[in-house]
Amino acid sequence: MKRMMMLFSFLAQFFSGKGQEGLYDRYPEYKGDDLGLVYSDTSCRFRIWAPYAERAQLLLYEAGMGGDPFATYEMKQSVSGTWLSVIAGNFSGKFYTFRTMNTGKWSAAVADPYVKLTGINGKRGMIADLSLTNPPGWSEDKSPPFQHKTDAIIYELHVRDASISASSGIRAKGKFIGLTELNTRNTAGHSTGLSHLKELGVTHVHLLPVFDYNSVDETKPDLKYNWGYDPLNYNVPEGSYATNAYDGITRIREFKELVNKFHRHGLRVVMDVVYNHTALTDSSYFNQLVPGYYYRQNKEGKFSNASACGNETASERAMFRKFMLESMRFWVKEYHIDGFRVDLMGIHDIETMNLITKELHKIKPDILIYGEGWTAGASPLPDSLRAIKANVSKLDRIAVFSDDIRDGIKGSVFDHKDRGFASGKPGMEQSIRFGVVAACKHPQVDYAKVNYSKKPYAKEPWQTISYCECHDNHVLWDKLRISAPDATLEERTNMHKLALSIVLTSQGISFIHAGTEFLRTKKGVENSFESADSINAIDWDLKTQHYDVFEYVKGLIQLRKAHPAFRLTLAKSIARYLHFDETTGEGLVAYTLDGKKTGDSWKRINVYFNGTGQSRIISPGKGIWKVAIQNNQWMQDIPLNGSITMKPYSCTIVYMK
Ligand code: CA
Repeated sequence: MKRMMMLFSFLAQFFSGKGQEGLYDRYPEYKGDDLGLVYSDTSCRFRIWAPYAERAQLLLYEAGMGGDPFATYEMKQSVSGTWLSVIAGNFSGKFYTFRTMNTGKWSAAVADPYVKLTGINGKRGMIADLSLTNPPGWSEDKSPPFQHKTDAIIYELHVRDASISASSGIRAKGKFIGLTELNTRNTAGHSTGLSHLKELGVTHVHLLPVFDYNSVDETKPDLKYNWGYDPLNYNVPEGSYATNAYDGITRIREFKELVNKFHRHGLRVVMDVVYNHTALTDSSYFNQLVPGYYYRQNKEGKFSNASACGNETASERAMFRKFMLESMRFWVKEYHIDGFRVDLMGIHDIETMNLITKELHKIKPDILIYGEGWTAGASPLPDSLRAIKANVSKLDRIAVFSDDIRDGIKGSVFDHKDRGFASGKPGMEQSIRFGVVAACKHPQVDYAKVNYSKKPYAKEPWQTISYCECHDNHVLWDKLRISAPDATLEERTNMHKLALSIVLTSQGISFIHAGTEFLRTKKGVENSFESADSINAIDWDLKTQHYDVFEYVKGLIQLRKAHPAFRLTLAKSIARYLHFDETTGEGLVAYTLDGKKTGDSWKRINVYFNGTGQSRIISPGKGIWKVAIQNNQWMQDIPLNGSITMKPYSCTIVYMK
């Protein structure tokens, strides 16, 4: 009765115009860490949070889909808005759902948001001991060493794309364990998959969503393709990447095998997480159990939509904040994940992101967290509170993607014909300088002339992700074809190499998209989120076809790893020891790094980017110089005699020992 009184008082408040925010803020917060199933061989304890439900039930099934429940339990009201059910016996291998009654109506029977094991298509929770999911050697699993955040060279990869093409030579095509196969080869015998990643030398592999997403039918995983930005179960791996999606244990064990194998071969694993919205809105598991609470509403009381996917979650509300924190903590502890890329992070509030990063750094001090500092639509939460790019200085140990350098290099992603510095657009020098200094404060950047940001938003270089291509929008090679249609194949290849030269020598954290190192194409498709494998699959034979590009990019990665001057840890060092040449004129960006002062084995390093279609002559000045790169080619450290003629669209790097 007391509950009903409370409900009426809240409803009265709502209809009197105080709004839902106040209503939801007064929902009781549950502080325990046992939401969902606590399993033992002799009993199961289930707890869900549904503070204003009138009733709650637990339903048990024999299978992950089909059939009626073999048992239904009325759950008991417990503390802080939770409902509890404890059942004695060994229920391993059975499945479960919950439903709640709200204003006299039963919700759908759903897996709860905290579910960790599910059956096929993530519709029902599976009861089992999580320790059964550990592959051999898991207790000794250790992440490879990683010191400074600016040491990270991230490689963004989709699990299915990596192996689904015949040219991958990988047996378990489209599966987590496909990425555990070693010494796989393309048609010509060049390495693919995991061996390729090792050969390339990246430090972190960022996997596009590997949590359980909604769009692909796991009973027929080859019928449909999706990137996976449509979350269903946040704490469960995606079933279509498992060799058996019916058994909840297999997908977990196989994903852990991937993590373990990557770790053993020197690669850290970053997960792409999408807490900003759920695939389903009204019918999502969150919304079925607690209507409205987990989502922001607009003035009309409808779901607001800053994600452009039908809803946006409300990280500022206690129980969604708690969910995000516990979910990410779970992936780190249970799956040994080394970092997160936070999708549309600009939807989340700063306080939540800072709480999460603080807690995750406690568990894993060298964790890497970065996100998209923007939204895909307007949000009711004020900009000043949100984790957007302009607020990155208020974020604790979190980086944001630099769209300034991305579009400075290749042109706007929204204007397909637009070119950037690397494809010959004049006037982009300051945007490139801004990228070179990782969006930090530098006396030689004219911020008024930077394409987007008119001030240095990063306080320190590790707050910036330098990139020119990711899964979104055209891949670089396609963008160049569309925006520079008159360029010859050779010119366009040079533009591509110049673009990646800028990314991999800039300060901040480096990020490249899978396959860009051998001119991956998506055949001009801009948004391939549900395109067929014929568009999305990585064609590993391109590696052989463009082996010079691959070797060049591999060399850039080696250069970056060997020379700390390219990955300075402090903004004040960048301002002091990186000096731009002011005499270069239009279309050329040149700078010197003081290697001596930055602890580098090279005393001076001169970097030159020629973004024009003309040759340019450069002379680094007095002293004994050697050439590392000349015109997008590795030069075996040959001595420099006088000056260098730079070809169109090229990078040259010389150094003094
Ligand atoms: Ca799924």
